[in-house]
This record gives sequence, C-alpha cells and structure tokens, in this order.
Amino acid sequence: MPPPSPEPLLSVDDLRVSFPGAAPAGVEVVRGVRFEVYAGEVFALVGESGAGKSLTARALLGMAPRTATVTGRILLHGAPVTAADLGRRIARIPQDALSALSPVHRVEDQLALAVRSVQGLGRREARAAARRALADTGLAPEAAAAYPHALSGGMRQRAVIAMALVNGPDLVVADEPTTALDPDRQEWILTLLKERCAAAGAALLLVTHDLEAVRRHADRTAVLYAGRVTELGAVERVLEHPAAPYTRALLASLPTAGLPHRSRLPVLAGAPPVPGATGEGCAFAPRCPDATALCRREDPGPRTVHGRGVACHHPPGETA
Ligand code: SF4
Repeated sequence: MPPPSPEPLLSVDDLRVSFPGAAPAGVEVVRGVRFEVYAGEVFALVGESGAGKSLTARALLGMAPRTATVTGRILLHGAPVTAADLGRRIARIPQDALSALSPVHRVEDQLALAVRSVQGLGRREARAAARRALADTGLAPEAAAAYPHALSGGMRQRAVIAMALVNGPDLVVADEPTTALDPDRQEWILTLLKERCAAAGAALLLVTHDLEAVRRHADRTAVLYAGRVTELGAVERVLEHPAAPYTRALLASLPTAGLPHRSRLPVLAGAPPVPGATGEGCAFAPRCPDATALCRREDPGPRTVHGRGVACHHPPGETA
C-alpha cells in the first residue's frame, strides 16, 4: 500500500446521527465520528454490534432511516456528497447479495441498465461494459446471462461486486459484506472485493465486526465504541500495539489466537451503553479496568499517541 495522498478522498467530520427520544437533542447513536479515507486504500470501520458503524456508513450513503437526524460534514474530493455521487462515485455493497439484485432481470441486463442510467451509454456499449465488469469478477458468460435465482451464492457475490464497480466509483462502501458466510467464503469474498477495487482504482470502506478480517485486508482502521471513534490509525499499529483500552479489550475477546498480547489482555466484560445513556464521562468507563475519576467525569477528546488517534485520558506511553 503506497502512502496515502495528502488530500483525502472522503472526509467525515463530526458526523452525528440521532433519533427522536428523551434526551434533550434526541437519542444520539453516532456521536461526532471523524475519519478520512484516502484514494486506493482499504479503510475499516470496526466495532461491536451497536457501536454505530453501520449507521455511520448508511449516513454517508444518504441511507439513514427517515426518522434520523444527520449532522456533520461528509466531503468527497473536498465537496459535499450529493445524491448524484451515490451509485456513480460512491458505490455500495450490502450484507445480502441476493437482495442487491433484482429477481426479475437477468444479471447482465441489470448491470447494463445501471451503466445506461449513470453513464448515459447506448444499449450496445452499456451491455459490453456490463459483460466486461462481470467477466472481471470471474463470472462466466452463461451465468452473466442468467437470472439471480439460478446462480450460486458465490456467483451472486461476484455479480454484486461487478455491479458496485461497473460505473467506476472512487469509493466502495461494503457494509458487513460477509456476514453469515463461512470463514473460507468470507476470506474469498474479501480477497476478491479488495482485488477488484484495487484494479479499478477504487478505495474500499469496509464496515465489519471482524478484527481478523481487518488485520488481513485493511490498511487503516477506526475502532468505534458507543458511536465514537476510540482509536484510529494504521492497522499494524492499532491491532499490533493497541493504545485504547477498548481496542485492547476487543482484541482480547477474540475466540481464537493470532493477534499479539492476547494472553495478557483482559476479557471484554459487560455490555455497551444504551444509546442516549452514555452520561458525561467516557462511555467505556463502566467496562474499563483503567478508569479513573477523571474518566467518569469528562469525556476524553481525541489525541495523538504514537502516530494514531486515541480518545482516552490514560493511553499507555503517551507521546502526543
Ligand atoms: S478514558 Fe478512562 S475509562 Fe475511557 S478508555 Fe481511557 S482509561 Fe478507560
């Protein structure tokens, strides 16, 4: 992975997503998330269920629930993301490959339609582009000409990846794309997705709860807890030498070995806070073995520790 270019492709700043509720400003589920994605990189949003990672992804895709209030800045190439960017410059890969495909159209017809509507090409050119994109994922021509229900799960995954890339997006957002798949298939899909994004020159924003997948496939990562980024940086720094107590605890909770320091780390105990009930201090304080009175009193802001961002009052060996 080459060093990132100085200008971010995607810039997310102070993103907040709230729902109507008892708190003064509603129930805030995403609470000031900030990160950048650079051209050509694989960036992972990772955290437990309920951390706000999928809602963050949906908000930046303009797909937050209708009852949600979204504030903050989401910039693509320095300009606010518009509806026209979605599907053209930003593509999405959903959790369920079958739901992403229309059951009543042949696969290559669906891609050709997407090409025509976004790029305005004629029928022949659009079909040729669709066939090229499908072939690039390894889908055979007879499968490309079939209806989705006639394809295996793996073939449908290939078709969905082709659909995401057919219009040459700058960024692909993949929200838990391998949930419910067995480990071998998860690895295969992520490898194919990463390869195709790299070949197409697209950055990949991977939303996942799977730290091992992050370690194998991502360049940089943001670890979310209770709607906040608690640690952000290069994967080898964040996962090999975690600074935030939450990242350390999350790594310790992995069911299998393979990441460093596991045997010396505490097991992740307790449950994340209920959205809207995080209180004034650090949201992780009730579960954190290093919590102090300061932690319970004041929410920590982000600081730089050994080249990564950490939201913690007491990170180890701080050299901000
Ligand atoms: S701020 Fe305090 S409670 Fe929060 S993670 Fe850091 S040490 Fe733990």
